[in-house]
Amino acid sequence: MTKNSHHIAILAGDGIGPEIMAEAQRVITWLNDNADTAVDMTPTPVGGAGIDAAGVPLPDDTLDLCKKTDAILFGSVGGPKWDNVAYDLRPEAGLLELRKKLDLFANLRPAKVYDALIDASTLKPDIVKGLDILIVRELTGGVYFGQPRGIETLPDGQRRGFNTQVYTTHEIERVAEVAFDMARKRAKRVCSAEKANVMESGKLWREEITALHGEKHTDIELTHMYADNCAMQLLRNPAQFDVIVTDNLFGDILSDEAAMLTGSLGMLPSASLGAERKDGTRPALFEPIHGSAPDIAGKGIANPLAMIGSVAMMFRYALNRGDIADKLENAIAAVLDKGYRTADIAEQGAKYISTTDMGNALIATLEDI
Ligand code: NAD
Repeated sequence: MTKNSHHIAILAGDGIGPEIMAEAQRVITWLNDNADTAVDMTPTPVGGAGIDAAGVPLPDDTLDLCKKTDAILFGSVGGPKWDNVAYDLRPEAGLLELRKKLDLFANLRPAKVYDALIDASTLKPDIVKGLDILIVRELTGGVYFGQPRGIETLPDGQRRGFNTQVYTTHEIERVAEVAFDMARKRAKRVCSAEKANVMESGKLWREEITALHGEKHTDIELTHMYADNCAMQLLRNPAQFDVIVTDNLFGDILSDEAAMLTGSLGMLPSASLGAERKDGTRPALFEPIHGSAPDIAGKGIANPLAMIGSVAMMFRYALNRGDIADKLENAIAAVLDKGYRTADIAEQGAKYISTTDMGNALIATLEDI
């Protein structure tokens, strides 16, 4: 097979970001040496590290690099060191700006329960066994960005806070397209969640998705659910879902709820995709769902598997290498089956290994597969 040459940006960020990214880079280097990949990695600062290096959380050089590369691997940003910087210059603003500048409108949040970690869920094992769902959240529109917004003082002295939930046909269609495409590679079922019963934007959401489905995606089963019912169904019978597509606000909540079904923050990757370019590629950012975990930063005990799972998603969705993604995901399941645990996923009082040793265990497993 020929070598597939790719260039990616490495934005390790702050806290445990650099610790888990080091393991991701070791895994990519192992693949370059032992599989038929050629992924060239360029590290660049972001978040608090961006502030320290260039005075802003998203330095120009970092943004320029991200625009040019095939994919962005992102660790995590934030920490007490930058607690007192101006609000719009805080480390987390770097990630928001990057999403905005690259128009990363589709956020993919898989929630998968590994058999070996089934007891980590607060739900009964028979409810979550084999759980494998994907939430596709609209990420750049809706009430978090809609105008008008603000806080005003009324004539009687009371204050009034307001935001606007707004979606256009185009915004709904493009995220729905991603959801249908994802479902086609999975169990071919999409559930769309909104509040069409009480919100006009929800009514439009339902109508546009139904129309798009009828035009182009009749091979996929489409169902609709009110978002509040969806929140309940995720706890009652999560296995009924394959792909859930929803707006920014409901997606924020439902994707965190789905994450908690798995019980382990350190295990969950994510992807954020932009619009397809003329050459068929998309801007794409891959990151664990957790933050910079300042409480354990520097101790060498962070779980690198969410970061390595994000590498797998990168191979699948940005580098068109589903085979490598499968290999990595199988290796993650295999290290868990072998009993390797970092502190966050170890049972209370049980022995656990360091971040680096988890990286070692994963690479040793890749060698065996
Ligand atoms: P967090 O996700 O960083 O940590 C929550 C808890 O989970 C902590 O106890 C932490 O130790 C643990 N944890 C998280 N990831 C882990 C891992 N890989 N291995 C082992 N344990 C892990 O959330 P938080 O404490 O609310 O936020 C900390 C900082 O991270 C804040 O500055 C916040 O703004 C930032 N943050 C950044 C992102 C991002 O970069 N995308 C996302 C969320 C929060």
